[in-house]
Amino acid sequence: MRIIVQKYGGKSIGTIPDIKKVAKSIVKRHKSGEGLVVVVSAMADSTDKLLKSAYMVASKPRERELDMLLTAGERISMALLSMAIWENGACAISFTGSQSGIITDYNHTRARIVEIRANRIIEELQKNRIVIVAGFQGVSGNREITTLGRGGSDTTAVALTCALGAERCEIYKDVEGVFTIDPKKYDNAKHLDEINYEVLFDMTYFGAMVVHSRAVEVARRHDVPMLLTSGIEKGKETMVNSKTFEGSKFVSVSSKERVLWITIRMKEYVFHSILKELDVLRTDLRNPSVNIENDEVKFTFWLLPDLKDDIKTIKEKFPNAEITVEELGIVAANGFAIAGRTENIEMIINRLRDKGIHFRYIGTTNRSIFVLLPREEVSAAESNLHTLLIKA
Ligand code: ASP
Ligand code: MG
Repeated sequence: MRIIVQKYGGKSIGTIPDIKKVAKSIVKRHKSGEGLVVVVSAMADSTDKLLKSAYMVASKPRERELDMLLTAGERISMALLSMAIWENGACAISFTGSQSGIITDYNHTRARIVEIRANRIIEELQKNRIVIVAGFQGVSGNREITTLGRGGSDTTAVALTCALGAERCEIYKDVEGVFTIDPKKYDNAKHLDEINYEVLFDMTYFGAMVVHSRAVEVARRHDVPMLLTSGIEKGKETMVNSKTFEGSKFVSVSSKERVLWITIRMKEYVFHSILKELDVLRTDLRNPSVNIENDEVKFTFWLLPDLKDDIKTIKEKFPNAEITVEELGIVAANGFAIAGRTENIEMIINRLRDKGIHFRYIGTTNRSIFVLLPREEVSAAESNLHTLLIKA
């Protein structure tokens, strides 16, 4: 059987009428004879609301209980969607992550999928049922409910596509696929019909919200065909693939308005203990850089803001390290073979200087040149770099 995995984000199923609309289009699609597995997020901003209520009853909620709470959001959407599908004359069944056989490691609130035992899903597909799966969650080896971190439903969908040997993963969003810059902020954003996995990974790593970066990473690793689309009405869409070409080219500009820029100065022996501690906390360090001179280490990296508590812990545990935390913004130009070219770096510096935009740090990855800068400079920097670098 040809299997398709679809994923609907919180905004696509934000209201009851949205759920009814999505159910209709799923049933229509099912009539074409494909096996359908549908991964859902929590409706609209319900995860944020649940999270807020957790902090209303506890200043530091237990992570296990946070996972119990937050997985309820997806459970609501999966059950409602399944009911709405039955109402439209097709058979459906909803499963939690645990019922779907999504086995994760033990890390509450930021678990990773280690295995998927999809036999229950397959049995239901064989009965011609549409299987609805709650995104963003799984179960650990000791039968605890875990979540995959914010935005994790995309990762559920891609991992399931892989485990089921499905033909492709279709991710339905409130935007029409991928653009050269955030289309919600800029009218001159250009739509991209296709994009390379690695460039898309960097875009999302540096803030583009179109899909979760971990999902792109899994898709790239297993060559999962992935379609990003606004869905219900057939509109513009973006196919993600491994096509690449020789030569240097900028593809997009992405940004994040708030990140934490961490600088730690310390003696080398302290450095090793700090690294160990960050590892225990499973802190996701971004673009770490280490300078060692004599016995003195300067260690810099950036973090997503929700990891602020990890740094607090480090500060408490290592009073003789000098730790500064700054809230900055980040803007990245993404593309092929751009980072090693000094002319590109120079062009970016010149443009920022010309426009009076201050910046703190410029770094590179294989697919990006990124700039850390004061938060209020993000918009000016991204629109200027987009005009400068992205050619039609
Ligand atoms: N509902 C979760 C969140 O808001 C997971 C997801 O939507 O992907 O982060
Ligand atoms: Mg999401």
